[in-house]
Amino acid sequence: MDERLVAQLHKEHADDYVSQLRHMTSNTNVRSLPDHSVNDEPGSMGNMLDMHADAANANEGYDELDDDAYNDDNNNIWAEENEDIISIASLGDNSICTSAGDNADNTSVHHRNLERTFPLITDDKAEHNIRYKGTVSHATAAGIKLMALLAKHTTDLSLYDDVVEFISNLADTGYDFQQKIPKRVSLHNTCEQAFNYTQLQPKMVDVTVATLPVPHITVPVFDIQAVLRKMLHNPQLMRQEHFAADYDIFSGTSCARQDGHAVEVEYYDEIHTGLRWKKAVKHYCANDEAMFPCGLVVFYDKSHSDRHGSLSVSPIMFTLTLFNKTARSKSQFWDIIAYIPNLDYGSTKSSDNSIAQVSTPALKCQDEHSCLFEALRQLKEANDSGGIPMRILGKDVKVKVWIHIMVGDISGNNSLLGSFNNTNVKCPYRDCGCTKEDFVNPTSTCTFINKADIDQLKQHNDIPGLKAVSKHNIVNAFDTIPTGDPVNTIYLSTPPETMHAIDAGIIPRMIQTIGDGFKRKQVAATMHNLHLLLVSRHARQSERDLPRPSQRNHLLETTKTQATENKGNLFLLLCALHTQMGISAADAAGITQSERKGKITTMKMILAVEKWFNRRNRRSDIDDTTKINAFVRTVLIPNLQKYFPRETGQQWMFPKVHSLSKFDKFIQAFGSGINFYGGFGESHLKVFMKHYAHFTQRRPVIFAQQLAQNHYRQSLFDHSLQCISAQLKEDYELVQTQSCGANFSGEHDIMFIRRHTNLTNTVNVDSVQFSANVVWKKSSTTKAVDNTFQYAVSRYMAQYGHVAKFRVTGYTTAKLANAPETLEEYDAISLQSMYKVDTQTDRNDWCMILTHALGSEVEDERLNVLDYVCPARIHGFFCFQTPGLPTPHLLQSEDADTIKAMARMDNTMYVVVRTHRNFLNWEQLEKEFILPIQLGGLDECTYIFPVSRIVNPLYVFKDHGQSTTDVSFFASIPARYWGFYLDYKLNTDSTPGPCGFSQKCEEYIDEDTLT
Ligand SMILES: [Zn+2]
Repeated sequence: MDERLVAQLHKEHADDYVSQLRHMTSNTNVRSLPDHSVNDEPGSMGNMLDMHADAANANEGYDELDDDAYNDDNNNIWAEENEDIISIASLGDNSICTSAGDNADNTSVHHRNLERTFPLITDDKAEHNIRYKGTVSHATAAGIKLMALLAKHTTDLSLYDDVVEFISNLADTGYDFQQKIPKRVSLHNTCEQAFNYTQLQPKMVDVTVATLPVPHITVPVFDIQAVLRKMLHNPQLMRQEHFAADYDIFSGTSCARQDGHAVEVEYYDEIHTGLRWKKAVKHYCANDEAMFPCGLVVFYDKSHSDRHGSLSVSPIMFTLTLFNKTARSKSQFWDIIAYIPNLDYGSTKSSDNSIAQVSTPALKCQDEHSCLFEALRQLKEANDSGGIPMRILGKDVKVKVWIHIMVGDISGNNSLLGSFNNTNVKCPYRDCGCTKEDFVNPTSTCTFINKADIDQLKQHNDIPGLKAVSKHNIVNAFDTIPTGDPVNTIYLSTPPETMHAIDAGIIPRMIQTIGDGFKRKQVAATMHNLHLLLVSRHARQSERDLPRPSQRNHLLETTKTQATENKGNLFLLLCALHTQMGISAADAAGITQSERKGKITTMKMILAVEKWFNRRNRRSDIDDTTKINAFVRTVLIPNLQKYFPRETGQQWMFPKVHSLSKFDKFIQAFGSGINFYGGFGESHLKVFMKHYAHFTQRRPVIFAQQLAQNHYRQSLFDHSLQCISAQLKEDYELVQTQSCGANFSGEHDIMFIRRHTNLTNTVNVDSVQFSANVVWKKSSTTKAVDNTFQYAVSRYMAQYGHVAKFRVTGYTTAKLANAPETLEEYDAISLQSMYKVDTQTDRNDWCMILTHALGSEVEDERLNVLDYVCPARIHGFFCFQTPGLPTPHLLQSEDADTIKAMARMDNTMYVVVRTHRNFLNWEQLEKEFILPIQLGGLDECTYIFPVSRIVNPLYVFKDHGQSTTDVSFFASIPARYWGFYLDYKLNTDSTPGPCGFSQKCEEYIDEDTLT
């Protein structure tokens, strides 16, 4: 269908194009004429006589409509014009001409008229002239003035509507316009006073630097005491539902309980489940109950706001370890300590060279540490003074603060550790002594750096020694700034994270090295087409957790894509290599079957390992070095080398590959990888930097300072608005209760009327036919109702009910709460899924559905086990409207005669699905990642089920390029369960049963097995 659509669009465009050229060359006689092709009888364009006849017919039809702008002369010329057209066409591209001539539909193309672009004016009456004078209402005049005002600023013009609505609302609430609204500065001052906010103002701190043309650089720093108070006092943030699960915020300990007893933590999950946490709390709070442990997760990454890089800044953003992962994904749980200015901007300009500067990488690194020290030393000062006194949730405490985790990219982290920022050095990875050969050696062991060793080298000013461990001789700011590891400080506090390492590091390199054969012109074109086919369906899926692919560039072009787009593209490449079209392309590219399969497996592993790291995991899988660690070293990395060979440069020996072997150590220390995931910080940069950058003068020297001022101003007004929400009666929070119920839209009414009213025919279901009369709620809808849907409903009624007519209400879209029993806690973020049927875009979403064992339809609704789960294509949702019908639900408890006699109503919402030929359970899907599926026969495998049977959304793509008409598909395990693919590799002897690892199902406990 997709391929045909593409071909059809191509042909339509070619026809339009030829038609346009004909008009251009035919000395066009322009007429203001509505399309007369309605009158055309379909006929052969090549037949001259027909053409003339058509033209004459057209003219007659036209005359009836409007006879002012048309005359007989025109008609004659039009006829001659047709001859021209044909001769021109015959000179042109033969194929276009033939295809146009062969197809009856194209007579309309040929006859398309050129309408006059503008109506012809033949006099100078006043109605044709614009006016130069006039009066308008006061309201219109005010609107015009407001528009002129907005035009002075570069702004989104929808601001007009917002301002107008705002003024109207003020007027509606009886605002007294005698009271002038304050000007901006005065508003600012009033708010500062009203909410005692000035303590949150940034302070401009001068730092002496060595590598810039100026002696000092100004670092805007916020008071950590004030910022922490703002967070820890905020009643919106400090709620139980935002705290890490099973965590006591005051003692800093786990409070996991089962049956009233403290239990051993089974998983590496939230930050306090990591081994580092306990030690840090002990160090800073020393079992003193008055101390409140407050770790920071800091995101520190250089960010650009222009293409040249001179307008860049490194914000020190942070959130608190006490919040849970859902909270930490939101920007309101983050704030700023300082904006470290760009330390590179002046290095190329020598104009204002008041001091002679020598710039070396070591000095650059030192300058950055000097800035960091000035920004962060207040943490140590706060702790040294005994902690920040605060009353938190009614308890008087002293807050002890430290940087527990530092998240950033490779080069940023290199600077923090004072490492050489180069991969061609002896120790290219910042926190261990491995060489780059060690990165890909399955048997090498990785030993972390000891801070004491580095310190000793520095003390003796042992430059060759430092060079051997690839470290600069600098005074490291973190020698004094409190971190989660009091012994090794920053050296063991910069975990790798999946966005930089996998999404932006390993995945694009995999795509680049998928095989040189794929770069051959023909193969590349096929792959691009296949990619576009998959992309066009990608957004039209019930499964919405998948990363978005890029469609701007060729699939194999990775330089212009963003991190998550790379992941989307790799997934589509994985899909592509399953299809017939992809298999042929791989053939043509010289890829053998086993190579293709190896590539597929490696892609699955990489996608799965990314999810797995960021998931909560059993301690045993992390602690046992024969599990994930061995898998990465002995399977994953060798697979990358084998199936994605990089012949040149550093091959696979770069730091991001080595970071794969380090995740287990850092998960042990900090809990699940999501705790140090860089994607959160990266997306909050939009809030804390990119948004503010618009309102600066865009001058490198003062950029950081202006950002800080903007942050202060914006947060002041945000805070003020929140504070007065009760006064404004805009405190809608209470209204936002959980609305997880089902929502249905695309409503339409269908009346089914039996064609042959011989109701006694109960023998042959196939001979019973209904005609369907559809009325859409939205009258503008012209969609057809899904055929399978109509067929299934009429067939059901032919089978079970002997009625002359009945009515149902159908829906095309359903928003359904995900069945809670199928969700593990870490899935709980997406509570709902959207399922859609759209005949216009040929969309039928898929789902996993609970069917029933064959022949057990009777006890249908009591059956609820995942043994009978199966992929299914959705054809529509509906409920019965006619009373007394023997519906599936009513038949569970009563017989058809009673239902009819009592005129029972059924308000169950049903779904019509066509399922896969066989049951296919979660275990199979998790194990294989992608499985071929095929729809069962229309009669045997089309079912009507209550919508509550829908278990989960499902990603399904067509086997593009197949030659048979019996279309087959592939189903992929939902993205949030990708990680489970790895569990089968790590625990080869595990047999989870049909629910797989991902589904939390209440299995029947067989009484016999209990003894
Ligand atoms: Zn190492």
